[in-house]
Amino acid sequence: MQIKIHQDAKSKYIGKHAVCGTINWDWAYLLEVLQGETLEVETEHLFHDQYNTGPVAKDRVEPLMARLDECRSQQTRDYVHKILTGSGMRVMWGSVAEVIDDVRPGMMRCQWCGKCASVADACPKCSKSDYLERFR
Ligand SMILES: [Zn+2]
Repeated sequence: MQIKIHQDAKSKYIGKHAVCGTINWDWAYLLEVLQGETLEVETEHLFHDQYNTGPVAKDRVEPLMARLDECRSQQTRDYVHKILTGSGMRVMWGSVAEVIDDVRPGMMRCQWCGKCASVADACPKCSKSDYLERFR
């Protein structure tokens, strides 16, 4: 499963967060670097409205860093580099243009314990049945 980051992810993020004044500019610049890129999604913990990505391949980090506008601060460079070389990031659906090979259809998430599994009458981990949310 992969996600393709929207070509206008940065401006969409800024537009959404400007209303409440909670823009994380380092995150906005990270999205700018990733616009149009395809990222692997970690599928153990699935959500309706967000995607946990896996690590970015090492050989992609340098070309992505080169996209960062040269006038950005060292703090921003360090932030973007740390995330690109880390174990992954959480990307909200509003930044995503396309989900490729979506594994969620036919699956559900237990809101009690967080387990994702094939649709069933009860959670295979905690056995509860009242907290199951089916992916569409
Ligand atoms: Zn459960």
